[in-house]
Amino acid sequence: MKLINFLNDLFKEDGFILIDYNSNRYVIGKPLKEIPMELQLLDKSLHKKLLFHPDLYFGEAYTNGSLRLKNGTLTEFLDIAFKNIGRADINIYGKTLNKIKGTLKYLTSFNKIVKSKQNVGIGFDVHRLVPNRKLYLAGLKIKSKLGTLGHSDGDPVLHSITDAILGACQMGDIGQLFSDKNKKFKNIRSTILLQKVIEKINNGIMFHLIKMH
Ligand SMILES: [Zn+2]
Repeated sequence: MKLINFLNDLFKEDGFILIDYNSNRYVIGKPLKEIPMELQLLDKSLHKKLLFHPDLYFGEAYTNGSLRLKNGTLTEFLDIAFKNIGRADINIYGKTLNKIKGTLKYLTSFNKIVKSKQNVGIGFDVHRLVPNRKLYLAGLKIKSKLGTLGHSDGDPVLHSITDAILGACQMGDIGQLFSDKNKKFKNIRSTILLQKVIEKINNGIMFHLIKMH
């Protein structure tokens, strides 16, 4: 397959496993990790698209899920790509390399998810006010005789924000991620929950929170 040859010419330092649409596995370059990163193509058309227009299709395929990374994060994959793109002896690929650089730029400097209206997230939350509970709003402890009832610290501001972010990224909702049946999350600070969500997103894709109302 042409894409395999192309990638093998490109990746000399470190590498990964490419799994094509037909589930064939190819070692690209020389993976350093004991369990190498896997790049799986779930759409047959990607074989050609990535060969000729990686700049246009890498980011799109990653965001729509037809290109999947296993045993590593997108950042790790881009690091390996950067290492190889930086080598002097592969300048013969000038044009293509520029395209790949374009892809990296696409993924790191702006993000389709934020620009797309489909990915606007809305969150709202309600907690009952009761005695003998603390009151947290937007991560801050508020002096109050009443506090919010909840499995976690019951911070409705942070729950709304977390839910809106999850919705915008099409990652479900706060209840799915942090079940109120799980003892681990009993009385947990919502700042920690939000932090976990941001980490999850950062592991997958560079996400820039542009505006939050
Ligand atoms: Zn809540």
